[in-house]
Amino acid sequence: MAQAPNHALPSYLDAEHLGPWGIYLQQVDRVTPYLGNLARWVETLKRPKRALIVDVPIEMDDGRIAHFEGYRVQHNVSRGPGKGGVRFHQDVTLSEVMALSAWMSIKNAAVNLPFGGAKGGIRVDPRTLSKSELERMTRRYTSEIGVIIGPSKDIPAPDVNTNSQVMAWMMDTYSMNSGSTATGVVTGKPISLGGSLGRVDATGRGVFVVGCEAARDQGVPVAGARVIVQGFGNVGGTAARLFHEAGAKVIAVQDHTGAIHKPDGLDVPALLVHVATHGGVGGFANAQPLDPADFWSVETEFLIPAALENQINESNAAKIRAKIVVEGANGPTTPAADDILHDKGIYLVPDVLANAGGVTVSYFEWVQDFSSFFWSEDEINQRLERLMREAYAAIAHMAREHKVTLRTAAFIVACSRILQAREVRGLYP
Ligand code: GLU
Repeated sequence: MAQAPNHALPSYLDAEHLGPWGIYLQQVDRVTPYLGNLARWVETLKRPKRALIVDVPIEMDDGRIAHFEGYRVQHNVSRGPGKGGVRFHQDVTLSEVMALSAWMSIKNAAVNLPFGGAKGGIRVDPRTLSKSELERMTRRYTSEIGVIIGPSKDIPAPDVNTNSQVMAWMMDTYSMNSGSTATGVVTGKPISLGGSLGRVDATGRGVFVVGCEAARDQGVPVAGARVIVQGFGNVGGTAARLFHEAGAKVIAVQDHTGAIHKPDGLDVPALLVHVATHGGVGGFANAQPLDPADFWSVETEFLIPAALENQINESNAAKIRAKIVVEGANGPTTPAADDILHDKGIYLVPDVLANAGGVTVSYFEWVQDFSSFFWSEDEINQRLERLMREAYAAIAHMAREHKVTLRTAAFIVACSRILQAREVRGLYP
């Protein structure tokens, strides 16, 4: 990976281990020229405010003691408490959690939620754990990061391989340790525990909403459009369902179990049932298998990367034959690939806007918990759609004004908001 120029790197992350954080730094460098006098504060964005590494020891079902590496990084809290998910994945690293926390700061500011950015993770493949091991690991991790999280300090939520049950354990552990029930300490909780209607589908719904806005801008009708999706979890699966319901054809899907193709459109409801029972799209009967490497070159109107980081890079970007890319995942496209897609005339709606629906309904959940007053699903979906459409319009306007990509425009909007707050608060102590 190219080394980002002239950064005073934190000593715990040398140039060779920059990883996703290095990509984020390149994205900040691209917008710095547009920040005017606020550029004086830009170093603030190039280092996390606080990064906690914790040891998570648990007793396994067979009596062994296992140790897992856990993280919680608060990138920025200038505009409000830290906010961002917790990921359980075998490839989690400090660099990745730092980048994801920074993207949360940008995302929350881009859509104007009153939050800073944070992220957490444990380096573990949760599929190798029993349910009780998963519970013990989640509770111990929550206790370890308990010193820095809280309803007005930093509010975790689901991310890759975490769900409402994991959030329930986190909420319970934090509440038992602090001596009172604190529903607002995490979002993405079960409805019975102060969770919000609409939260589970919110990220995928947001992807669909901004995808439709982008399609209108680009003159692409959604009905009849072809859609290909990488990752068929909570985000990719919901986005695929909503596009399918709107009359689009989901023609190819790739995930960690393989890739499938059906030029006249997959039966998305049946595929969702298959994935729920088999853990992935591989082996789905009513489709042709596709070499996963060929997924990227399938001709389509919409490409939705909804898996992990760095999926669209210099090795495959030139092959992509999509009109519109809507980033459901965080960090799926490298800066070099951004340039290739831009040169090919592909319109890309960046992660920090496209997948902000999840944290937006997390915000609604947090507000509902604080006020102990709960909204209907219709009200939540309407507010979500309005907020996403307005954020898209403001960022698209900025992009036209400065003749930059939507990613750069989203970063200009977000970095300006964060650094304005930083400046007006001032340095203290
Ligand atoms: N993990 C989601 C994201 O990456 C949601 C975070 C949240 O709701 O706080 O945006």
